[in-house]
Amino acid sequence: MGAQPTACAETSDTGVGRYIGTQDSARRDRAGRGKGLSRAQPRDHLCPPGTLACLTVDVEEYFHAEVFAACLGREQWSQMQRRAAPFVERLADLLQRHESRATFFVLGWMVERMAPLLRYLASQGHEIACHGDAHDHLSRMTPQTLREDLRRARGRIEDALGIRLRGYRAPTFSLTRASAWALDVIIEAGFDYDASIFPIHHDRYGVPDAPVLPFWAVAPSGARILEFPPLALVCGPLRVPVGGGGYLRLLPGAVLRRCVARRVRRSQPAMIYVHPWELDPGQPRLDVGRLSQWRHRVNLGTSEAKLERLLAAFRFDTARNVLDRIRSDGDLPVFELSPGVDPC
Ligand SMILES: [Zn+2]
Repeated sequence: MGAQPTACAETSDTGVGRYIGTQDSARRDRAGRGKGLSRAQPRDHLCPPGTLACLTVDVEEYFHAEVFAACLGREQWSQMQRRAAPFVERLADLLQRHESRATFFVLGWMVERMAPLLRYLASQGHEIACHGDAHDHLSRMTPQTLREDLRRARGRIEDALGIRLRGYRAPTFSLTRASAWALDVIIEAGFDYDASIFPIHHDRYGVPDAPVLPFWAVAPSGARILEFPPLALVCGPLRVPVGGGGYLRLLPGAVLRRCVARRVRRSQPAMIYVHPWELDPGQPRLDVGRLSQWRHRVNLGTSEAKLERLLAAFRFDTARNVLDRIRSDGDLPVFELSPGVDPC
């Protein structure tokens, strides 16, 4: 079973990237004829200072998704059609229209061709954070390969954008008890916070007994780091994931909004996540099993409208800002990520 790379493309054929350095886009920006982002000014004042709703975007291509990891090697990535940039722009347009900010967890591999767009996002008050470099699930890594991956990603992103990264999210939320060692490596790498633990039960990730609200995660060495988990509901003994990705695509938009509203009413943080490829129903199909295909593609056409209504209902801010806000507000729970076997 192997995925067939589609034709190589320098830029997406789903739209013209306004921030990928084309002469046309630069001319359009100078002439002020582009719509939306190209005329934007810095908007720090627009996000209400107290919001605890947080939107995050994992900046990667559709073929980086874990469902394709077994059939598509890293050496094939450069032959694949790149489609993410226009969808990152659409997300930025949505955020601008609704006066919100987000954290963009960027894969180091993506930076080279997206640097102007990422610089623009940073200039607008969005946070640029780190999603590693090779998009490897932590279960396939060792402390040494993760150290190297983080060093490469940090170097690429920080050098290209001239910023310091504060946050990290592991690919596929793969920080679990079985990969608890990784928390020490993430702390060693100098990140201020991590957003890699999904406090649910799942076959590919999850720490089902981790707190559902931000907490201090204690690594096996005893070192600790702030952890910001995605939105999950506690229903008796059950944890129900609602925070984004496939859950956002499967759940009715009204349910998602009610979940966020419940946290907002209680003055509790709520983190949502999305990928650019989730706004792209036209992405090529790769050769994977039917269940994986369904998981990856279900309701792709609904993501943008759901996000739009979510953004119309709540103001969102970056993970960094929300964490700074609650950290100064009082004590957070402490949770030891002791090494162990993941439930399956
Ligand atoms: Zn990812």
